[in-house]
This record gives sequence, C-alpha cells and structure tokens, in this order.
Amino acid sequence: MKKYTIKINKDWCKGCELCVAFCPRNVLEIGKDRKAEPAREEDCTGCLICELKCPDFAITVSPKA
Ligand code: SF4
Ligand code: SF4
Repeated sequence: MKKYTIKINKDWCKGCELCVAFCPRNVLEIGKDRKAEPAREEDCTGCLICELKCPDFAITVSPKA
C-alpha cells in the first residue's frame, strides 16, 4: 500500500543523483531522461531526506490522503 506521494519537478531536477544516493530505502532512480523518478514509491517511509538533500528543491514528499 502506498503511503506517500513523491513529486519530482522535472524542470528543476538536474539529475545530480544526490537523492538517489541518500534515500535509505532505495526509492529513487535516475530515469532515461536523466531526471529523478520515484521508482519504488511504495517503499517510501516519508523520512524527507531526499527533500532536504535536493539542492534544487525539486522533490516534494507528502502523505497520501
Ligand atoms: S537531488 Fe534533486 S536535482 Fe538531484 S537528482 Fe534528485 S531531484 Fe534531481
Ligand atoms: S522520503 Fe525518505 S524514503 Fe521516501 S524517497 Fe525520500 S529519502 Fe527515500
């Protein structure tokens, strides 16, 4: 069951991979477009590390309604 929604602002993401490296649950990946994507959103614990680490404020994690 998905508990968190991860939104990546692709216009702001520069593909630096910091979020991929720091996510403790290996949720994020760099896609073919060289931008981050939530490949395993169902594994997200909502720790917000990716949001805090992203230098470009491109990630928003929010609880599912
Ligand atoms: S840390 Fe931010 S800019 Fe870097 S790949 Fe992740 S979303 Fe994109
Ligand atoms: S909130 Fe935490 S678990 Fe979810 S994608 Fe970001 S770093 Fe990974």
